[in-house]
Amino acid sequence: MTVTDASALVDRLVAVVPDFPKPGILFRDVTPLFSDSDAFAQVTAALSEPFDGAFAAVAGIEARGFALAGGIAIEQGVGVLTVRKAGKLPGEVLSESYSLEYGEATLELRPAQLPAGTAVLVVDDVLATGGTAEATVTLLERAGYEVVGVAVLLELEGLGGRDRLASRLPVHALATAPA
Ligand code: AMP
Repeated sequence: MTVTDASALVDRLVAVVPDFPKPGILFRDVTPLFSDSDAFAQVTAALSEPFDGAFAAVAGIEARGFALAGGIAIEQGVGVLTVRKAGKLPGEVLSESYSLEYGEATLELRPAQLPAGTAVLVVDDVLATGGTAEATVTLLERAGYEVVGVAVLLELEGLGGRDRLASRLPVHALATAPA
C-alpha cells in the first residue's frame, strides 16, 4: 500500500455533500470509506505509517476520529485516548476551548489515563482551520503526553490548518482538496 493508493481511496470514497450542515459548506462524508472493510484497513495503515513505532497511544477526536483511532490501535498494538466534546466524560476532565467561525467549542480529555511522557499520535478525518486539532494537541500536552504528530484523511486547502500546526509538530494528510 503506497500513500498514492491511499490518497486514491480517499478521493474515491469520501463523498462531497454541498450545503451540509448549512448553506455554503462542502461537507466531506467519510462514511462510505469507513463501511468498505478493505479500504478502511488500507487507509488506517497508511494514516499512521509515517509515525509507526514512534507512538504508544493514538488519540481520536470525536466522533469520526474514534473509528480511525480504533483501526490504528489494533494494527499497531497501542491504546486509544478519546478526545470528547464537552459534557460527555465523567469525573475529572481537562477542557480546552477554541473559536469556531461562529462561537466556541470545547474538547475534553480524562487526565492520567496513561503515564506522563507517553508518545501519542492524533487522528481525525478532516483538517480544516486546524482549531480542533490544535486544541487536541494542547489538551494532550497539558495531560503530560508527548504528541508526535497529527494524521488526517483529508486536508482542506486554503484554511490555514497546516500552517497553524506545522510549527508545533508534523502533519500527515493522505489527500488534499479545495475547501
Ligand atoms: P477545523 O477545526 O476547522 O480544522 O475542523 C476540523 C473538524 O471539523 C474535524 O473534526 C472535522 O470532522 C470537521 N470538519 C470541518 N470541516 C469539515 C468539512 N468540510 N467536512 C467534514 N468535516 C469537517
